[in-house]
Amino acid sequence: MCRFFHGESEVNPPLDNPAGISIDPLSNRGIMAVCLFESKGALMTKKYVRAIFPGSFDPITNGHLDVINRGMKIFDELIIAIGRSPVKNQLFTPEERVEMIAELIHQRQMTGISVESFDGLTVEYATKKKADVILRGLRSLTDVQYEFQLAMTNRAVAGIETVFIMTSEQYGFTSSTLIREIASLGGDLSNLIPKNIYERVKQHLKK
Ligand code: ADP
Repeated sequence: MCRFFHGESEVNPPLDNPAGISIDPLSNRGIMAVCLFESKGALMTKKYVRAIFPGSFDPITNGHLDVINRGMKIFDELIIAIGRSPVKNQLFTPEERVEMIAELIHQRQMTGISVESFDGLTVEYATKKKADVILRGLRSLTDVQYEFQLAMTNRAVAGIETVFIMTSEQYGFTSSTLIREIASLGGDLSNLIPKNIYERVKQHLKK
């Protein structure tokens, strides 16, 4: 929907100019359109975009964080959504993962980001949260095939779009599964996961 203004006064849409703009460049006056995502080329009010980033995050890695940081340049709000579906070989419970990520968000003073866990289908959760898009990260071509299928299914089922963000090359081989394996063998994870998460992993393995 567009509204048209001449100076401060609202006027009827200009019939001769479907784009809705006719501004005298010298006086900077004329008819100006303020639209909500309607006509290209017109002045547009930016839509607020809420994204969910669903995953296991067991544990969250620097690769996930890279995608989150890039996502925050695009979205107004991002919800990190930890699926509660039962997984074999989990390192942390969903509650622990929420707590660890909340601590990270707090420590790094990240704004516009929250974390929670959810049960059931991602698309149902996305609808409940009124999310505009699902965010997923891509590391390599191997991810693409699975993610493509998932995104197509989610769009067919709930009409929701998926936005993919490619990680930096340095995190292309980082996965939570690999982190769990290295952790169980006592390897160094300092370049792969955030510091507070590494501390929690070490504490956890001492138990
Ligand atoms: P899931 O079990 O849903 O794949 P993960 O926690 O493993 O949950 O991953 C969540 C999302 O983050 C997925 O889109 C995955 O491709 C992406 N991801 C995982 N590791 C990385 C990484 N190193 N770089 C970029 N994206 C990643």
